[in-house]
Amino acid sequence: MAWFEKENGPEKTTSSRTVRTEGLWIKCDVCRSTIWKKDLEANAMVCPKCNFHFKIDARNRLALLFDDQHWEEFDTDLRSTDALGFVDLRPYRERLEQAESETGLKDAVICAEGKLKGRAVVAAVMEYRFIGGSMGAVVGEKITRAIERAHDKQQPFIVVSASGGARMMEGAVSLMQLAKISSALVKLVEERLPYISVLTDPTTGGVTASYAMLGDLNIAEPGALIGFAGPRVIEQTIRQKLPKGFQRSEFLLEHGMLDAVVSRSELKEFLAQAFDFFCGPIE
Ligand SMILES: [Zn+2]
Repeated sequence: MAWFEKENGPEKTTSSRTVRTEGLWIKCDVCRSTIWKKDLEANAMVCPKCNFHFKIDARNRLALLFDDQHWEEFDTDLRSTDALGFVDLRPYRERLEQAESETGLKDAVICAEGKLKGRAVVAAVMEYRFIGGSMGAVVGEKITRAIERAHDKQQPFIVVSASGGARMMEGAVSLMQLAKISSALVKLVEERLPYISVLTDPTTGGVTASYAMLGDLNIAEPGALIGFAGPRVIEQTIRQKLPKGFQRSEFLLEHGMLDAVVSRSELKEFLAQAFDFFCGPIE
């Protein structure tokens, strides 16, 4: 029985090992490699073995975009009033409080201004950890204000999306944000100011159905899930099996829905070059 006990033994040592190294290693969701967390962070949360792009939060995204990790945030105090007094499994108000304490944000987007390779730009970056990056009245209002800021200051505009779509707990009010943001974007068109939409994993529902697909360039990170309805709903509706890789960045690029798939490490350079192209070099 000695060997048998030995086989069982590692359970104890494994758990003690887990305790000691907890949080230091991360397993890649795709290639299953074990990666040292510090290495992963140094590589902008992209797997060095298979290029899988882990989700990153809005603040880390801003740090990757803006020079010297410096930016100014706007409209940080806007918060949902829960106009419908909505309750599903839990009251919406409770979900908001929880999201706020988990993220330190009052809603699912950060709007900021800063320099990208020396050029002043306005960016709205969505926070997926805040109720699935869903778009309610606050997200709609903040993005609209960010567009107006870009317009008034004559600066290019970027949105980095990470969203499950419209926020169901705000009902029709959340759907109105699609139209509101879309019409605000027309102001940028009139001024010939570029808007680049960056779609990250996942970008779905009402966000895909509005501003995420309205960029002068619509670009995505590799392997991102991008779509309107989920694959199961589509399969049931059209009664057909969907092709492999359906609703992933590469598939969408191949079928003309995206202009480019850009790795996280190349994103800043790509944006800088695109703005040089649209606006001319920085004076
Ligand atoms: Zn990997």
